[in-house]
Amino acid sequence: MRACYLSQIFSIIVQNAPFFLYKTCAELPRIKQHWFRQSNATLDFDSFTKCDFCSQLCSGFFYEIDEYWDMCLRCAKVADIIECEGHQHFLFFDFKCTEKCNGCGDDIYSGAFRCGKCRFALEFGCLTLPHSALHKIDEHKLKLTYHDDKEQCYCDICEQYRDPSLWYYSCSICDTSAHIECVLGQCPFLKDGSTVAFYKHSHGHHLKFFWKVEGFPECSKCSKFCQEEIFKCKESTCDYIVHCKCLDFYV
Ligand SMILES: [Zn+2]
Ligand SMILES: [Zn+2]
Ligand SMILES: [Zn+2]
Ligand SMILES: [Zn+2]
Ligand SMILES: [Zn+2]
Ligand SMILES: [Zn+2]
Ligand SMILES: [Zn+2]
Repeated sequence: MRACYLSQIFSIIVQNAPFFLYKTCAELPRIKQHWFRQSNATLDFDSFTKCDFCSQLCSGFFYEIDEYWDMCLRCAKVADIIECEGHQHFLFFDFKCTEKCNGCGDDIYSGAFRCGKCRFALEFGCLTLPHSALHKIDEHKLKLTYHDDKEQCYCDICEQYRDPSLWYYSCSICDTSAHIECVLGQCPFLKDGSTVAFYKHSHGHHLKFFWKVEGFPECSKCSKFCQEEIFKCKESTCDYIVHCKCLDFYV
């Protein structure tokens, strides 16, 4: 039985050639019972999906719940009652929670992890952030940090104001601190070279994702120069190129 589903996964891999199958991925259960719904979550694979829980764009394996929700592997690992480094009490998932997220300050619309003892809430997106990340601004790994005692806070990457009550990345050796998005970029979980099928966005042709772009081409949507991650049209006769944040997705 096990050999049977593994061979299915391998055949999916062959069709999407650029992905390497790690042993841990080969061991993922094909069907998993997930606490979010009393139904099965089915393992699937795509070079481009948007996780309906953390809202991140992702490449690779994900779970599909009730043929409606796509859940990335990072979110699939989260239990309904959890301990989190950024808070001293246990958090449990509250489907009706509509507070602000204590990690990023955004409004919560569709449930979040909430503390039963104090006013603290976290959405999937902040809960599943990498605990450390590399950025060229600092030679050390930057650590996800939950509190800042300073009153005047700025991001060392974009040099803009940083809210000290929100989570950020820092290096205590160099005293570097930066916004989460400035460290991770717009699409940290999307693989370089991933294809986005034509029906998943507003452009109508297949697009390819790139972490970096040569030169400074103009974005077809906002007309500003592209320096960060971009999507580029795969048709040789089309010179469409857009910033990650400028493209409208249907997923
Ligand atoms: Zn997710
Ligand atoms: Zn958040
Ligand atoms: Zn608490
Ligand atoms: Zn910044
Ligand atoms: Zn450092
Ligand atoms: Zn743009
Ligand atoms: Zn095109």
